[in-house]
Amino acid sequence: MLPDIKSLSREEIETQFKAWNEPAFRVAQLLDWLYARRATNWDAMSNLPKALREKLRVNFTLQILKLASKQGASDTTQKFLWQLADGAFIESVLIPANPALYGEASDRHTLCISTQVGCAYGCKFCASGLDGWKRNLGVHEIVEQIFAVERWHAARPKEESQEPAADRVVNNIVVMGMGEPLANYDNLIKALKILNAPWGGGIGARRITISTSGLAPQIRKLAVEPLQFRLAISLHGATDEARNRIMPVNKKYPLSELTAACDDYQKLKGRMITLEYILIAGVNDSLEQARPLAALAKKLYAKVNLIPYNKVEDLPWVRPAEEVCERFLAALEKNDVTATLRREKGGDIDAACGQLRLKTERALAST
Ligand code: SAH
Ligand code: SF4
Repeated sequence: MLPDIKSLSREEIETQFKAWNEPAFRVAQLLDWLYARRATNWDAMSNLPKALREKLRVNFTLQILKLASKQGASDTTQKFLWQLADGAFIESVLIPANPALYGEASDRHTLCISTQVGCAYGCKFCASGLDGWKRNLGVHEIVEQIFAVERWHAARPKEESQEPAADRVVNNIVVMGMGEPLANYDNLIKALKILNAPWGGGIGARRITISTSGLAPQIRKLAVEPLQFRLAISLHGATDEARNRIMPVNKKYPLSELTAACDDYQKLKGRMITLEYILIAGVNDSLEQARPLAALAKKLYAKVNLIPYNKVEDLPWVRPAEEVCERFLAALEKNDVTATLRREKGGDIDAACGQLRLKTERALAST
């Protein structure tokens, strides 16, 4: 299979063009077509000589994500289901910024992207892992999620939105879609570098958050990457007992190991980590759980995002009552922990990642 052009760094394209005896300015022209103009085929690149376009065509693919379906009204959370070249489905979710959550202005949008088809980690509450792991996404498939959404945004019918059409729609990226990003480490980092580069996505590293279920060795690796990405840990339990019950990964990297890796990360980067904590009724929402969570957050100099559980079809877990969530938040705050409680956006459209894909794949399998 040919490599895809959007999986190459600028240096790699430069090397290729040198080998073809192409002048250096052609590289900038190609990057402009790929990332500024978001071209969908080689023939659109009208200022590249035909012979060069032909060389590109026989040596690289230019894969475009195919929109299989979209849920959600404009100006609210919108979920995109993409079909990849091999027929597999992945999701991206476009979320209008919640200023309280990541500290952005409210006209901003965050895109939640996927890194794998399925997930091998099998957290008991999550739809992404229900049918297991299929494959890692390639660099270009991670990168394309942003550009496919930008293309959709540029082309959407006027009546779909009250907003004036801004040039760009994605200001922030959270790697919290389907899959465990740190289990696809090399492709993830290469894709994020392309999304961060001024010639690529132009999105600041501080506007990119990587979420992990707790792969301690890769957290250490991430700590020594030069780019300042933000890190979020899917904690969901503040004791080994609570975490073991819902996250099998905790058997491999128990809390002692995970917190040591986070500690090192925090010290090396000097940046605040976020602890994600889904509240699941009767599992991790009691006030006894708030105490060890507060202690951990303080030890790690981390803030806590509380997320009321989104119901997943076929799974027994349910979201606690609103008062329970508010009480849990208050208990953390009383212990001087910076915490936020997500007051739902997108819960009604299967916004918990992995659910739209699961439904679609199961529906296709039954036809
Ligand atoms: N694998 C990575 C990133 C993808 S999951 C990780 O686990 O961090 C992104 C976030 O969505 C995680 O915090 C995950 O625990 C959460 N999540 C999964 N299913 C959910 C659900 N049904 N309701 C709310 N959050 C959910
Ligand atoms: Fe995988 Fe994250 Fe879902 Fe766990 S929560 S199954 S690691 S996607």
